[in-house]
Amino acid sequence: MTATIPFNRPWMTGRELGYIAEAHANGRLAGDGPFTTRCHQMLRQMTGSPGVLLTHSCTAALEMCCSLAGLGAGDEVIMPSFTFVSTANAVVLRGATPVFVDIREDTLNIDETRIADAITDRTRAILAMHYAGVGCAMDDILDIARDHGLMVIEDAAQGILARYRGKPLGSIGDLGAMSFHETKNVISGEGGCLLVNRPELIAEAEIVREKGTDRSRFFRGEVDKYTWQAVGSSYLPGELVAAFLAAQLEEAAAITARRLAAWEHYHALLQPLEVSGLVRRPRVPEACEHNGHIYHVLLHPDADRVNVLSRLKDAGVQAVFHYVPLHSSPAGARYARVAGSLECTEDLAARLIRLPLWVGITQVQQAHVVETLAAALQ
Ligand SMILES: *Cc1c(COP(=O)(O)O)cnc(C)c1O
Repeated sequence: MTATIPFNRPWMTGRELGYIAEAHANGRLAGDGPFTTRCHQMLRQMTGSPGVLLTHSCTAALEMCCSLAGLGAGDEVIMPSFTFVSTANAVVLRGATPVFVDIREDTLNIDETRIADAITDRTRAILAMHYAGVGCAMDDILDIARDHGLMVIEDAAQGILARYRGKPLGSIGDLGAMSFHETKNVISGEGGCLLVNRPELIAEAEIVREKGTDRSRFFRGEVDKYTWQAVGSSYLPGELVAAFLAAQLEEAAAITARRLAAWEHYHALLQPLEVSGLVRRPRVPEACEHNGHIYHVLLHPDADRVNVLSRLKDAGVQAVFHYVPLHSSPAGARYARVAGSLECTEDLAARLIRLPLWVGITQVQQAHVVETLAAALQ
């Protein structure tokens, strides 16, 4: 019996505790201190976005996006059903309605050819989620949005250092949201950031993030007192979290390179299984440079996924499925609606499994994963 190969193992750079000690010594523990400033600088450099604001989660950043988009009761936002809960929940919190369209068969991202048919006179925004750090067809999505006067919000929770036609994910639409949750590539336990790509929205984003006040301007000495300006909440992380994140961001390129190497190794090992028709490997369109966030396979329609996962588990391999499509969830049925057929969503979500992938997984472990999968599929 080999030791269990976990699905995820958070990787520490070794500098996190030193930076946390520094934040402790600074005696500056609330948000927007020196470590937050360092993180903002690094993220601006990585993404090219003019307005980066750390948040306590990607969920928080998505909620800020929906506030900044001015969503209200009756408004509609087009998005995939194959996504994380927070993508839709942020819209529902503003009283607006998620409208689910189908996903593409290759990338499992929103099918841009289905968006136009889902637009009504209540549509306000398109929310594009980049699955596995593989970019959505942003050129088409931006064209559709421009033609219909819609905002584009990117759920780039999984997208750090990934690109679409050379542009960093999260920096392409009007607004973007990233996650530093412990399961993502670059982590701070819980954490995230908002990317404000339209400079005229930055001041408003700062207010939404600081309890609806202009405290950010006050701290910069731009106003002599701060007051309640608009409706907001508290979305900023404290400095201890920012200190941890600073250590991770410094290593973001190295983390990505190591994940990509493990991803490529799976891709090579799994080629024979794809040739024999037992699995379909991930597809990365030419316009996309991904970041090795997820390695998934789609099982043959006749395979029994529950059985495959339990065979893997018995062999010490922790593989997992992914999103239960939101339209089939209780809250999805209550708060959202579906536009057109979700055939691909239902088919692919039921056949997908994700393999263990983390910085430090060995080639021996990866070989064991693939051999076990192959045996379970025979
Ligand atoms: C992880 C994830 C989120 C939520 O991120 P948190 O930082 O945990 O709030 C949202 N959307 C997608 C697509 C994700 O993968």
